[in-house]
This record gives sequence, C-alpha cells and structure tokens, in this order.
Amino acid sequence: MTAKILDGKSLAAEVRAGVKANVAGLASRGLRPGLAVLLAGDDPASKVYVRNKVRACEETGIRSERHEFPGDVSEKALLDKVAALNADPAVHGILVQLPLPAGVNSARILEAVSPRKDVDGFHAESMGALLSGAPGLVPCTPAGVMRLLEHAQVPLAGRRAVVVGRSNIVGKPLALLLLRKDATVTICHSKTRDLETIARQADILVAAIGRPKLVTAGMVKPGACVIDVGINRLADGSLAGDVDFAAVREVAGWITPVPGGVGPMTIAMLLENCLLAATK
Ligand code: NAP
Repeated sequence: MTAKILDGKSLAAEVRAGVKANVAGLASRGLRPGLAVLLAGDDPASKVYVRNKVRACEETGIRSERHEFPGDVSEKALLDKVAALNADPAVHGILVQLPLPAGVNSARILEAVSPRKDVDGFHAESMGALLSGAPGLVPCTPAGVMRLLEHAQVPLAGRRAVVVGRSNIVGKPLALLLLRKDATVTICHSKTRDLETIARQADILVAAIGRPKLVTAGMVKPGACVIDVGINRLADGSLAGDVDFAAVREVAGWITPVPGGVGPMTIAMLLENCLLAATK
C-alpha cells in the first residue's frame, strides 16, 4: 500500500484564499483585522517563523505589526507592551513568539494577553474552553491537523487515536480535539512504556515529538493515518519530521509530508484565528 499524501500546502492555500475573501468583505464595512507579533531575542528560527507569519498576513490583507525586543528585555517591558496592545482597538490578535529569552517568565506573558486577542490559543482561558468544549480560540497547529483530517475525510468517531507528545501547544490540545470528534485517544510521552505496541494500535497516529524519524514503519498499523507534526533540522541542514516518511508511506493509508504537511496549516489557522478574533 502507498499512502495518500495529505497535502497541507494546497489545503493551506485554499484556507488563505478564504481568509483573504473574508478580509476583503470586512474592508467594505470599515474593519481591517490586525495582528501584533512580539519577538524577543535573536533566535534565528523564531525570526523566520515571524517573517513567514507577517508575510502571510500581508498576502491576505490582515494588517500586521512587529514589536522586537533585545534578548535582555525585562519582563516588565514585555508586560507593558502586551497591556498596550490589549487596549489598542486596531489590534485584534496578539502573538507572543516562543521561546522568550531565559529570565522572562513565558507563562506570565502569555497569561497577560487578553483571551479575546489570544490567536495562539495558549491562554489558560482558551485552554479551559477547549477542555470544556466551549467555543474559543484553538491553538493553530492542532487546529491545522484537524482541518487536514476533516478535508481528507479520515474517519475519527470510535477510532483509536494515539498522540505521541504532550506539550501544551500541540499534543494535549490535539488530543482534546480528537476526543471532541469521538476518537478514543491515548497520549504517549517520553516515559511511556512500549510505545511501539501502543502506536501500532492507532488508526490515527500523531507524532509531535521533535525526534527525527522516531516513528518507524514497524510502529504503524497498515492503513492508519499518520500525522507528522515534527520539524527537525538535520546536521546537513535539511528538514525531517518525526516519522520515517519513505518507509511509513508504504504501510500507512494517509500520511503528511515534512515539509508541506502540518507546517503550512499552522500559519493558515493563525490567519483564521485573526479573522475570528476581529469579527467576534
Ligand atoms: P515539546 O514541547 O518538546 O514536546 C515534545 C513531546 O515529545 C514531550 O511530551 C515529550 O515527552 C515527548 N517525547 C520526547 N521524546 C520522546 C520519546 N522518545 N518517546 C515518546 N515521546 C517523547 O515539543 P512541541 O513543542 O510539542 O513540538 C513537537 C515537534 O513539533 C517539534 O519538532 C516541533 O518543532 C514541532 N512543531 C511543529 C509545528 C508545525 O507547525 N508543524 C508547530 C509546533 C511544533 P515528555 O513530556 O515526557 O518530555
């Protein structure tokens, strides 16, 4: 069997076109969604992510503003900036690019963002809404994975989903979203015993680990849907996911590539969240 490729790049382009049309519609009512991005320090990967997000905003007509701080920025300076952005009616979404420099309490900064402007869905109120099934802004990467599954009509209700990784930004929220769709969900992590056996039971297997090619063909049930969230930079400079793509695609029913799978969907969902925050 050769797996169907879940093409995040083309689905993300569709989503972005939809956002662009909606933004144009809002312009006729005098409303322009605005996103503020906070970036502190010199992390090269963060700079690339922020550049891509700002560019995506420009393409869809969402106004964006970038607020950059040096690596030795104080927590107070960041909190003051967040407070100013919370009060700014032209700013509908606030994104704090992680990681923040050591010495800054990231949780405190994220909690300072108004839940109404929390387009990353990292605020405790957003997470609480997700847990209880209430409406709210959902973290972008998990939302992007769900959109890919929905678009490919991968059956979820009653199916066994295994999420490897329990971070607050990917693994845990994604497990909750799968549960919302009536999957039977297991969350695995670095202390999980016999990961191979658990993974092989999955109809939907998600790798959100950050370890290149940790998921091998022997861990995949034939016909399963394999979602690779991982982005790992290899020694030769190339990108690899958490899944051994070449081998696993011969076993799985569906698979996401890296790059071109979950990554583009993350930015597309950020744009949708900006639109949602602006129209709420
Ligand atoms: P993270 O916070 O480092 O979490 C990694 C998770 O993997 C942890 O729960 C950890 O377990 C678990 N883990 C580590 N080694 C393991 C092992 N050998 N077996 C089983 N579980 C193991 O990472 P993250 O922020 O969730 O990101 C995960 C990956 O997704 C990274 O490669 C990241 O770059 C990528 N990512 C991609 C996107 C995108 O848009 N495509 C967005 C966000 C993140 P413990 O909890 O026990 O430590």
